[in-house]
Amino acid sequence: EMQAKIRSWTGPAVTADGTAVQLLANVQDGAGARAAAATGLPEGVGLFRTELCFLSAQSEPSVETQAGIYREVFEAFPQQKVVVRTLDAGSDKPLAFATMPDEPNPSLGVRGVRIAFDEPGVLERQLDAVAEAASGTGAEPWVMAPMIATVDEAEWYGKLCRDRGLIPGVMIEVPSAALLGDELLKHVEFFSIGTNDLTQYAMAADRMASQLSELTDPWQPAVLKLIKMAADAGQRADKPVGVCGEAAADPLLACVLVGLGVTSLSAAAPALAAVGVQLGQTTDEQIERAAQAAVSAPTAQAAQDAAFDIIKGGK
Ligand code: PEP
Ligand code: MG
Repeated sequence: EMQAKIRSWTGPAVTADGTAVQLLANVQDGAGARAAAATGLPEGVGLFRTELCFLSAQSEPSVETQAGIYREVFEAFPQQKVVVRTLDAGSDKPLAFATMPDEPNPSLGVRGVRIAFDEPGVLERQLDAVAEAASGTGAEPWVMAPMIATVDEAEWYGKLCRDRGLIPGVMIEVPSAALLGDELLKHVEFFSIGTNDLTQYAMAADRMASQLSELTDPWQPAVLKLIKMAADAGQRADKPVGVCGEAAADPLLACVLVGLGVTSLSAAAPALAAVGVQLGQTTDEQIERAAQAAVSAPTAQAAQDAAFDIIKGGK
């Protein structure tokens, strides 16, 4: 019966009380964006992982080549929100043209936006390509930086984007960024919380290490507290705060994220219907109570159990 509901769900997502929650798609190229749009479920793109377009490129693609690829994604979601993440190379996603030194700890090394600090040319040309791709499509080009850790970085990135007419944001995936929410939002227009990396860095546990899965669990109360800090800063500044990590695809956790103040959820398109159905069956009061209980629970298991009891058990 649940499966039938999920199959026939059409969106847009609202809670049982009718409160809107924006559901967006994670995509990695034009074909994926068109497939996501064809489901009719996402209201836009919450995370376009651009580095995945260039995993086999031996040299930096020209601005024209990049713009052609990005335009396909804008065209798949005309007049809708499309959040482009600038290159998150390094660590688990090495790119031949954005090389970094041999590093003992690549996940703590020169990855993501850090690659652009010394030589910003690749980033500047990527932003030029995004601006060119969006022009004339009616799209609102939102762009965000991976791995932002300091206020200076956000200020620098925000200026590069605004100079090109792009709407700047930062990913919250380094714990320092979650702690600096108010200061960061003086320089950028939105946050997108990457729960995969935020969990890895908050718990000091490699996201690829299966034997550490109890630590790399986004239900960990320490992770939920960091998410709440970022969401609270967003509310104070009246700026949107989304989640684009795997946590957004878990229907129960999605409810908790909304209760913590998150305004949009982005996940692979096939995961969105289950999230939409659960939101539709859950009242605003349950969502708030579940978030409160989860964020103050002593363990990840207790957080999940408390949310389950409140949302599924009608307690
Ligand atoms: C994340 O870290 O949660 C995220 C969305 O980015 P990626 O998984 O691509 O590192
Ligand atoms: Mg990440």
